[in-house]
Amino acid sequence: MYWSNCFIPTLRENPAGADTPSHQLLLRAGMVRPFAPGIYTYLPLAQRSLLKIRARIREEMEQAGAQEFYLPALHLTGTLKRLGQKEESHNSAGFSFAASSQQIFDQIAGNELRSYKQLPQVWYQIRPDFRDDSQPASGPLRLRQFTLLEAYSFDVDLSGLNRSFQLMREIFERIFSRCGLELIIAEASLPEIGALEANRFMVINNAGEETIAQCDSCSYTADLGKATSRLPAIEDEDWSEAPVEFPTPGVRTIEALTIFPGGAPAERQIKTLVYLLDGQMVLALVRGDHQLNETKLAASTGAKEILPAQPDVIKQALGAYPGSLGAVGVTRFPIIADHALKGRKNMTTGANRDDFHLRGVSLERDIKVRQWADLRTISEGEGCPACDGRLNLAGAVEIARISKLGQSVLSVLDREGKGTSVAVGNYVIVIEQILVCIVEGHYDRDGIIWPLAVAPFSVIITPVNYKEDALGEAADEIYRKLTESNIEVLLDDRDERPGVKFKDADLIGVPLRITIGSKKLQQGKVELTVRSTKESQDIDLDSVIDVAREKLKSVFVK
Ligand SMILES: [Zn+2]
Repeated sequence: MYWSNCFIPTLRENPAGADTPSHQLLLRAGMVRPFAPGIYTYLPLAQRSLLKIRARIREEMEQAGAQEFYLPALHLTGTLKRLGQKEESHNSAGFSFAASSQQIFDQIAGNELRSYKQLPQVWYQIRPDFRDDSQPASGPLRLRQFTLLEAYSFDVDLSGLNRSFQLMREIFERIFSRCGLELIIAEASLPEIGALEANRFMVINNAGEETIAQCDSCSYTADLGKATSRLPAIEDEDWSEAPVEFPTPGVRTIEALTIFPGGAPAERQIKTLVYLLDGQMVLALVRGDHQLNETKLAASTGAKEILPAQPDVIKQALGAYPGSLGAVGVTRFPIIADHALKGRKNMTTGANRDDFHLRGVSLERDIKVRQWADLRTISEGEGCPACDGRLNLAGAVEIARISKLGQSVLSVLDREGKGTSVAVGNYVIVIEQILVCIVEGHYDRDGIIWPLAVAPFSVIITPVNYKEDALGEAADEIYRKLTESNIEVLLDDRDERPGVKFKDADLIGVPLRITIGSKKLQQGKVELTVRSTKESQDIDLDSVIDVAREKLKSVFVK
């Protein structure tokens, strides 16, 4: 491409409000423009890189035998609702715009896969997706619209699923490594009841909306919806008497009760939270100094919708407002309690009477716990569950997720001719997050440094003055030869000062620059500069194609 034909609206200054390197650089390099919070327009230069990322994904998926589909986005209204999936909008003809591919893949698999001989299969599609996000978006690290690779594996049994899962994990690692990303694979909460294992591919980044826990001495890594920790044991004094109610006027928080005369330290209190899980009221209990994790609550109950109950609803159900709630004597609603409360005695909790609490509460004796589960969010510095080390927390961006969904309702005939349940895996990549995270990891003060595998162009030719006949002709000639060698080239033919052209070339981050100036050209030479190292060398005009090709190979192994 000739720059004068391209739309690359670079900016000199950092735009206001852009506070991450990726946000600043993608705007300045003329690659993205904001449309609405969390929604971006990807301009032609960015689209070239996004198509490269898709190409790398398709190459690796193909290599592993995965096959791409093109599925309908219109579904009969109602079918998705019955499956508990979201419907984006619908029209008068009775069709809805659907986000997920799962229903159609399941339908095809259910109709067409009949025998173990047809398995395994890995099917995928690349499609737009949306996220219902009420949080204010902060730059392109947090997206409301994006492109998703969505893949499913179908195997005849769980050992087959284990193999497919491992294979997809390796494919994803190869894709990200070719894109120049350093990833961390974290254990993740399970996407649904019956699922067996899930991993998330994360990039450490303080601006990311996710948090992961990493052990400082072993390889333990998990997201906050999954991470557990070792807690120091607490010795409770023996307490045989029944709970005693006592007045606590105005005390509405754990903190307030710690300083109230006759109160209790936070780790000797029970925090009672009331939720509506798919419409059913549930009491969730954690230790006073612990935070409830809603992802864990969802994972341990299988609930799809989790809503904190409103104070008036709680008052009607339990007889008190939040601040005076407890689970002693409650039998009408299921009670789920965190493991850290197991065996605790002589605890303090709300009495379900405003301005009153109970002391002397023993969990097993006084509260009808229906389910014990891991419900708490871990904190920085707590003990690793796998070794003697400590857990550190770090911000992260999620790029991909893989899950063993386990046995499905699909069935095929096995070797003996009997029906057997098909084991299914699910694998997703958010494509724009790859682009953004590459920029977060590959830049300097002058701009982006694209890894070759995803660079919008491989080479930029910069004649210091394109209008000068000899320089323009040499530039055109090199452009023609590189293009014939299947190398993607951008020729900066703009009528701009050399300094502006160099700055723009560095900003948009093309891996190799060939600079053509009068003095060197008279000696039959041009200058070759590597963007990542800024190293320059003079090369003979005759050998420019060979040298460029070698340089691209040797400097950018991936
Ligand atoms: Zn550890």
